[in-house]
Parts: sequence; C-alpha cells; structure tokens
Amino acid sequence: MYVQRVLALFLLAGLHALRAGVARDLAQQFEQMSLDPDECYRVTELNISKEDIKVYLSSGYLIFSKPIAGFRQGAVFVASTDGGDAEILLMPPTRGERLSLATYTQSPNLDEHLKAAAFLFTDGSAAELLASIDATPPKKVPEIGMVLAEQWDPVMRNLSHSFETRLVHDALSKNRQTGLFYMAISGKKLTNFDVLYDLRDREQVFVGALGYQNNRTFFDTWTSFPSRSIRNGAKPPESPEVLSDFRIDATIASDLTMKAVTRVRLTLRQSDSAPLLFSISPNMHVTEARIDGQPAEVFTPESLRSNLIAGRDDRDFLLLPKSPLDPTKPHEVEVRHEGSVIRKAGEGVYYVISRGTWYPHTGPEFANYDLTFRYPKNLTLAATGSSVEERIDGDSKISRRRTDSPIRFAGFNLGDFQSVSMDRNGYHIDVYANRHVETALQPRPTPPAPSPPPIPRMRRDGLDLSPSPPPVLVDPAGRFAEIEKNVDEALDFMTASFGPPATRSLSITPIPAAFGQGFPGLIYLSTVAYLNPDQRPQRLHASYDQMFYSELLEPHEVAHQWWGNLITPADYRDEWLIESLANYSALLLLERTKGVKPLNELLDSYRSHLEEKTETGRTLESIGPISWGRRLESSLAPNAWEVVAYQKGTWVIHMLRRRMGDENFYKFLREVANRYRLSPISTDQFRELAQAYMPARSKDPDLKSFFENWVDGTGIPTVKLSYSWRAGKLSGTLAQSNVGDDFTALVPVEVQMAKQKTVYWLPIASDPIPFNIPMPAAPARVALLSNDCLLIPAH
Ligand SMILES: [Zn+2]
Repeated sequence: MYVQRVLALFLLAGLHALRAGVARDLAQQFEQMSLDPDECYRVTELNISKEDIKVYLSSGYLIFSKPIAGFRQGAVFVASTDGGDAEILLMPPTRGERLSLATYTQSPNLDEHLKAAAFLFTDGSAAELLASIDATPPKKVPEIGMVLAEQWDPVMRNLSHSFETRLVHDALSKNRQTGLFYMAISGKKLTNFDVLYDLRDREQVFVGALGYQNNRTFFDTWTSFPSRSIRNGAKPPESPEVLSDFRIDATIASDLTMKAVTRVRLTLRQSDSAPLLFSISPNMHVTEARIDGQPAEVFTPESLRSNLIAGRDDRDFLLLPKSPLDPTKPHEVEVRHEGSVIRKAGEGVYYVISRGTWYPHTGPEFANYDLTFRYPKNLTLAATGSSVEERIDGDSKISRRRTDSPIRFAGFNLGDFQSVSMDRNGYHIDVYANRHVETALQPRPTPPAPSPPPIPRMRRDGLDLSPSPPPVLVDPAGRFAEIEKNVDEALDFMTASFGPPATRSLSITPIPAAFGQGFPGLIYLSTVAYLNPDQRPQRLHASYDQMFYSELLEPHEVAHQWWGNLITPADYRDEWLIESLANYSALLLLERTKGVKPLNELLDSYRSHLEEKTETGRTLESIGPISWGRRLESSLAPNAWEVVAYQKGTWVIHMLRRRMGDENFYKFLREVANRYRLSPISTDQFRELAQAYMPARSKDPDLKSFFENWVDGTGIPTVKLSYSWRAGKLSGTLAQSNVGDDFTALVPVEVQMAKQKTVYWLPIASDPIPFNIPMPAAPARVALLSNDCLLIPAH
C-alpha cells in the first residue's frame, strides 16, 4: 500500500446495536462499574509482577471495584499524602526497544514513581492481590474508600467503556490465562501513560501514551515487546480461530448503501467457551448472526482506546453461540451486515472506504472467496477473483467472482467506468478508468489577472470578438493507454523475475485519493495517476510527484501481487520489507526501461527526504529505526513511517543488491517468492535467506551487522575518504561522522585502473579505519559510491 497525502477524509459515526442479551447486560454493568468502599485497604509493600513488568505499591490506598459476573475487574491505587509511594519498573529486552523508550521518556528503562494508578484486569489479578493483602493483617479503610469511590468512579467507567468488548469477552471466557492486565498511570515525572500486559497480543508488553501534534491525536508506543515467557519459549503465543471459505453476498443500493451476508467456515484452535471475536469497519453495522444455523447474540460496542492502542480502523464485535462450540469440527458462521462504505467524490466518481474491512474478519489469513455483488446497472464493479457470472436482473447487475487460490482479503471497487481487457500469458487484465473527474481534481478557476489598459478592438455589428480562453477540460483517463502498457510490462517483468503471482486475473481501478493499494487481483490506483502530468493539480507538478504518479505507483502496486499478497509480513515490524520489496521491484523495472539515471535520481530524493528536519530539528531518519514499523507514525513526526519504512527500506534493499551483485540478487528474490509463497516472512527469515546469496568471502557474511545498523538502528553516516598510492599499495582511511558511536557499516569504494573498475566494501566505525590494498600501478580514480550506499560523502 502506498499512502501519500489523502485528499479526502470521511467520517461517519458508528451505529450500534441496542438489544437485550447476555453480552449487552454485561456491558451495561461494566458501563456502571464502581469502586467498593468495603474493599479499600491501606497497603504497604504490596508487589505486582507480570513477567517484565514490576509494580511496587510501597505505601498508599488500594480500592477494588465491585464484582461483575463474579469477578472484580478494576482497582485504584493512590499514594497516601503522608510519604506514600509506588513505583513501576520495566526493562525492554532489545536495543531497539530501549531506544524507543528513551525517545519518549529520556531513559532506556522505565523507572517511574506513581501518584496514582487505575487498573483493569481480567487475568485474576484481583484475587491474587486480595490473597496477598489477606496474608498480612489487612487494614480496611472504608471511610477513605467512600472518598476514593466518589473521585474515581468516573475514571473507572471511562476506562471500562474503552475496553468494553474485551471485558465482556473475558467475563464470558473460562480461560483466565489469556486475560488482560492494564494500568492507567499518573506518574510523578512522566505524567499520564498506559501499561498493558496482554497474552492475546503478539507483543504482550506495551507502554504508551496519547501524544499530540498539529491538532492530531496519536497513541504513541513508548515500547512494545514479547513478554519473557514467550521470548524464552516457555509459553506458546496465543493463536486465534481460523476462518476459511468466505462466501459473501452483497447488494449495493442506488444510494450506495450496502447490505451483505457473509458466510464463513470457522475452525477453533482450542477449546474455550469464549465468545467469538471478529472485526469489521465502523461503517458497517452487524444486524444478525447465526452459527451452525442457530441465532447467535451479536455484541457491537463503541470503543476508542483499545482501537487506538492497536492502531486500527476497524472495531471488534462479539458473537455468542447458543451453546459451546465443538473444537473438533468446523462451524458455519453467517453474519448479516449493512452500512455505507462507498462515498461520493463528486461528478460521478466514487470512493470505497473500508476497503479491507467491509466484511467480518479475524486476521489477514489466507482463505478462498466466492463473492456475489448486486449493484445498480448503470455502474461497473471490479473485484478480487475471476469472473464466474455476469448478468442483468431488472435495474441491477449481478456479478459473481471466485478466487483461484487463497488470498488474504477481498476488495471491490465501483464506478462509472470505461474499461479495456487483455489476456496475456494465461493472465486476464482489466483496466478501468473513470469517465469523469472528481471535484477535488477539477481545475480551479484562475484569479483574474490585473486588467490591462483598454486597447482598441475590432468591432463588427457591435460584438466584441476578442478571444476568450477555452475552458480547460481535464481528461479523467489521459494516461489510459500508458497505464495499460505499464501494467502489462510490469506483470511480464515481475512474473519472469519472481514466478507466478497470487491470482490469474488483475483489475486496475481508480480511487479518488492520493494513494494506491494493491489487493489480491485488484489494484486501487490514485485518480491523479490517470491524468496527464500537465493536467494534474499545480501542487503536484514537482518532478518527484510527477515521477511518483507516472512511473512508480503502477509498478509498485502491481509488485504487491507478489510482495504483500503472495508473501505476507509476519508482523507489523516486517511490513517495511513488503513495502520496500514492492517499491524496489518498481525501481528495477524503471531501471530496465529507462536506465540507471532515474533509479539514482529517486534514491537521491529518498536520501534528501530522510534528511528533512522535523519541527524539533531532528531528521526524519533519526526518529526511529525501520523495525518500529507503524509506530513511526507518531506525534514525533507523523510522516516518519512512510519516509523511513518505504524510502530508507528501499535503500536497504538496494544496498543488499549492490553487496550481492545483480545475478545473485535476482536469484535471491525469486527464492524469497518461491520459499515463502502463501506464507508470512519475517525480517530475520529474509536476512537468513539472503546470507546464502552473498558472494564468497564477504565481510559480515551473516548480514547481522548490516541489519542491526540499517534496520534496527538509525543514522546516515557522513564518510570521509582519504587515500594515497605508494610502492604498489593503495592506503587510506575511512572516517565516519554524524552517527552514534555504535554505528558500523561497510561502504563501497570504487577504484578505477585504466578501463577497469573494482568496488571494495570497506568498514567504517566510530574511529577512522585504515585500509591497505595491493595495487601494482597508481589508480586513475578512487571514490566513494554514494549511489550504492546510504551515506553522505564528506569533502
Ligand atoms: Zn505499497
């Protein structure tokens, strides 16, 4: 997915079900959560330990919430005014995570004294705490409890509302092992922040806080990592249920609202009576559900904080089966949902929002899809999968599509389209374009120029015949033929280089926004890319923007048919790999068709974007390492994610290519596509596979140092090369500056002897490193190759 500036943002308040039911009743109790003055204690030296998280309640008051469904899910600790204290300690296990914590808190470890903390827990913490309180002579202080309850009840209700789905889910689950432990902390130095320990997450330990920049709210991740028991393999990570065989029947009305029935096969990975946890776009409203033909209760909450923490634009809902599901056999789930996921962008152009979240899902797992759409017959629909049936029924068109191999998610697009089709090498390609130009891309009337002095004009019959400028008509499909050619070329080149793509049919469709997105068999391409360069809005006339829309976006999105749809990122930390491989594939094609010059120009632009300064004077590159993933989209610099993951990431792939040499590099990419076909890949797996393609006797042969510096670390070194040739030897030093002391890398030095050029990869580190290369004659030229390595040569 290539997100640039989004032209339009649409928000719609979510609808929510208000119906009776077990989950709804529980939710209402959680909304009224209150503290219990009879369970308020004066506590000293009470400790809480959640693997890497240690909390010491040295002296203060602890009050528990009243039980709901037989459990106490909340508590509040307040340090007493007379020398009360509490402390939280946490040490991130990796260099990258210590750097992350230090970026937000100025310290690589968390050691904070607390004024107060509000807890939510569904992991049995209340019972454990009450047991340790009981072990010492308990001191109940109900009169203080009355005061605390009055002060803190609104806070508890607010928090429990934020975690409503999870609280309801866990209250109905028998499995306490996958409960949640959450603290909202008011610290003495760091003010307010959140600590989360959740065995249902991929990374069980999380610390973060709300951050603000330019009137936007972010949930900044201070640190996030797998807990100790998961890191050392003592506990297996939680695996959710598996969905397969999606059958979706969707009807789009003339007002563009959608009503759909999604049927899917569900396999449980473990036996638990817990409700089923699904997600769907907040623009979709689940009206009814059945499991194995039996009605199931649907619980859809409104919840802000838990979604903010997860950085998601969809929300969870619960399905409660009538009776516990048999984990040994598959189940049929049927969900009816309706809502508005298509917006009007004006002038007969439509915008599908919620592109990957319009139907109920759990995670992006590979599954087969059978999709039927019924929609107004004056429109055209494009969707994932191969066409099985197209027909007209009254005022509607009916289109049925089926996937020929498992995919991660299914999408559709809709509009008043013109289209062309082609069949090439067993692949079917449809290219669609709008017949109109949306409002945002309509030419703005130019302000009148200062009126010139009146000049005599020829008049005939009293009519003024002076020419007025003709109206500018923007062609919504000015580059139609070019897009068709480019897509065909990209598909050919990439199939030859990486093997067959995920699907045998591919639709290219317009989206009225400034980005592209590559779904399996379906590409959303910015409407700007369809316009001839001179008809694009003036603000996009800079050469980088023009190149982005004309040269990069199409092949980048085509490349996602492999990188992203055939091979998926293992985790949010590996998303950069998918984006960078897609982007670099586009650059490889560009190099093949237009030569190395545009490749180097783009890499140069990326280097200067990375060097751009934020408001606080830091470079975008220095905000954080690539491996922070989407966490880079924070209040520190919202655009750091795109620049670091896509652009520095592209540099990383380019440097790897230069280290391997072209022949090995292409073999390597093909092997990545082959070995990880229809499965996830992690950065570590990618690095391990790359080792086998490094030339013999390479320095840093396992590439550990390469990935530590460029992927898990930050810094673009300024490198000074000094050298001299004497007595059959080229001697010199390489000195680095502008990077941290722990930065090390190999940098390319090119030596030219007569007509022959040789590249040496030589080390740089905090101290200047000398080199000696035997050389019978004086070289004609010795230079750092700044086209091949992310460095800045010092003069
Ligand atoms: Zn992308």
